[in-house]
Amino acid sequence: MEQAQQIVRMSVERALAIITVHETELGALDARAGDGDHGSTMVRGLRAANEAVAAADDDQSLGQLLMTAGNAFSNAAGGASGALYGMFMLTVGQRLGNGPFDTLSVHDALAAGLETISRLGKAKPGDKTMVDALSPFVNALGRAGERGAGLAKAWNEALPAAEAGAESTAQMMAKRGRSARLRERSIGHVDPGAQSMVYLLQAVGEALAGVDLDE
Ligand code: ADP
Ligand code: MG
Repeated sequence: MEQAQQIVRMSVERALAIITVHETELGALDARAGDGDHGSTMVRGLRAANEAVAAADDDQSLGQLLMTAGNAFSNAAGGASGALYGMFMLTVGQRLGNGPFDTLSVHDALAAGLETISRLGKAKPGDKTMVDALSPFVNALGRAGERGAGLAKAWNEALPAAEAGAESTAQMMAKRGRSARLRERSIGHVDPGAQSMVYLLQAVGEALAGVDLDE
């Protein structure tokens, strides 16, 4: 099997492992301002994505595999995050296709995915959503790419920006999703979707570590 496909399979596997460890934490964060299902939703979606990519034909491109994962995720997960993460994976997969997988191309694909989430969810930075972790990550990845960093290195260098972005949601008032109904009472804890986005990005970083698709 090609290395490019292996990256998707390893990413989804790592994501399921990391999210499973943090399932209770994500549920508790969601219970503060939403309905408490974010941890279980993510585990359900990732289990389905994992099965779908394991069963997929070996001739699927990296982009096709990511689309397979996105479809399975959104069908199984449901809810706001199921639809948003699913469409994110679909968009990124569509953009990536057969490559190239250099840092700037991957950046452009992720930027398109971010745009899809923002359009569907009508969320912008500062609204206390997954966008607040993804958007700074995409920007940092772009800056690393412009400096000439390879994908694995650039990805892992950009992770602290996602982590800081998720952290910063604790001070925000929710403007989108269920927690927006709480208004001021949504302040004081990290947004569950921003935190799960960090875990997903970390999982991909682990899958990429030591592998350079673009070198
Ligand atoms: P639900 O709100 O349907 O219960 P989840 O609990 O699984 O879905 O996911 C909640 C997370 O989804 C939020 O923490 C937020 O990050 C993200 N989210 C919800 N609505 C939106 C939106 N309109 N735009 C962007 N992200 C959103
Ligand atoms: Mg919820």
